[in-house]
Amino acid sequence: MERIRCPRRRHRLETNKVNMILKIETGQNNPVLRQKAEKVKEITPAIKQLILDMIETVKADPKSIGLAAPQVGHSLQIFVALSTSDVLRTSDVDKVIVLINPVIKKKSFRKEILEEGCLSLPNFSAPVKRSKEIIIQGLNPEGQLIRIKAKELLARVLQHEIDHLNGVLISDKVRPNDKCGMSLLQN
Ligand SMILES: [Zn+2]
Repeated sequence: MERIRCPRRRHRLETNKVNMILKIETGQNNPVLRQKAEKVKEITPAIKQLILDMIETVKADPKSIGLAAPQVGHSLQIFVALSTSDVLRTSDVDKVIVLINPVIKKKSFRKEILEEGCLSLPNFSAPVKRSKEIIIQGLNPEGQLIRIKAKELLARVLQHEIDHLNGVLISDKVRPNDKCGMSLLQN
């Protein structure tokens, strides 16, 4: 997911020079963005390297706060999200959340509409209605089951990334009477 209203601030995180910045897949009809991603069966060294490269990629773009594997051309159920102070509004800065085979366990009935952007749909943003709080569960890169309770912006980012794993883009979420921004979509 792309940061919309937050200040453009570069994350000052440590970087490992061997990790790569990956090419972002774009376009609302791009097949890899439109299929349901496959479950990860085994966390192999290649999967771990993909995760490191995804973290490198999400950190490289100051607008970016989350990235799902299909967005870098891998149809796998993995995403990374930055839980910076902007997101959590706590001192828990610059932590990276990595979830493999994530499942939403609970969603609040209370919803909120906020403008969202997406790295895979450049120059497009749309108001998207999402639950204010969620509980999500999945594996960390060590294969341990973890559960995250998230609210507000972090809950939104996690729901946005889960959508990517199901082939859903924010352009699908635009209500018929709310076409603002749709003309910016190229394909
Ligand atoms: Zn996105």
